Amino acid sequence: MNIRQLFDTKSSTYTYLLWDPETHEAALIDSVREQVERDARIINELGLNLRYLLETHIHADHVTGSGTLRNRFGAKVAVHRNSASRCADVLLDEADVIRLGRHSIVVLFTPGHTDTDVSFSIPGAVFTGDTLLIRGSGRTDFQSGDPGAAWDSITGKLFTLPEDTVVYPGHDYSGQTASTIGEEKASNPCLGGGRTREEYIAIMNAMDLPKPRLIDEAVPGNLSCGQGPDSAA
Ligand code: FE
Repeated sequence: MNIRQLFDTKSSTYTYLLWDPETHEAALIDSVREQVERDARIINELGLNLRYLLETHIHADHVTGSGTLRNRFGAKVAVHRNSASRCADVLLDEADVIRLGRHSIVVLFTPGHTDTDVSFSIPGAVFTGDTLLIRGSGRTDFQSGDPGAAWDSITGKLFTLPEDTVVYPGHDYSGQTASTIGEEKASNPCLGGGRTREEYIAIMNAMDLPKPRLIDEAVPGNLSCGQGPDSAA
């Protein structure tokens, strides 16, 4: 499976284009509405057949480009079932398999940041959304966040993947592009190096973060795939 990492500087969001180099079937993880023209150009230049627009969760910090890209390429929008998304074509569940040619993407339900989080697993890599970030993890103080659930998702699912699995997060705010499961187990200050579940919950509950600037626009916008009256910027 080929992987291309793309970045939106305004929201510090990573978008990932995955494709089978033989059949050219492709999926785009976590598109950003402001980057739709960039992504469409790359998909066309590479001659890809965009089959899926995957969301790691209902985002609060940017609006997805999935609705626009679906119209352009005829791809299916997929998001976790708990979102109750009215615009998605596929509502994802644990262990669902998304096929791109001869390759497969396995869905891991990894709630905690929200109750809609999934990670997308392929051999050798995992796309963790905001569940597991590089040396951090997504905040759990809004949108049905739950630090105990986040701990269980990360340590019980993601940390059971092979240590050399490359971690591709949903965001990074300091220029880091990827990590590995082994690195995060050893060096993640919130989760690694012998931290306990109780310590993690205390750390997450003590974070005094401002409300995301775009949450009131982004959440309803993302529930309509970035289209419709709710998502007007
Ligand atoms: Fe998020």
